[in-house]
Amino acid sequence: MSENVAVIDLKKVEVFTGVVCPFCGTACDDIEIRVEDGKIKTVKNACALGKATYMHYQSDLATPRIHGQPATIEQCIDAAAEILANAKYPLIYGLDSTELSAQRKAIELAELIGANIDHTSSV
Ligand code: SF4
Repeated sequence: MSENVAVIDLKKVEVFTGVVCPFCGTACDDIEIRVEDGKIKTVKNACALGKATYMHYQSDLATPRIHGQPATIEQCIDAAAEILANAKYPLIYGLDSTELSAQRKAIELAELIGANIDHTSSV
């Protein structure tokens, strides 16, 4: 066995500094994110919400899903409508990274179904 064994770390490590967090209205801009082999490993300077959101980031969420299973957008709309129609206390929450026209529609929907509407800056 050789006495001069070099341990080579083959992980590709990237550290991003000055990242802006888009998850609430505060828009913290000093987030530091360490990525190893394409996966987020650590998040610094973020609150619990921002950290949890980055740590659980999934790149494939552009695909419509119901209970984690791929579905058509029509199926998703039907499922959402059923949830809202059966909700005792409907709540529309979030909308931080949502364009203005979509926020208008969410407010119209809240008025229509008697829902409360909230924003992540309240957490
Ligand atoms: S979610 Fe937290 S880290 Fe992100 S912008 Fe808001 S306060 Fe900052």
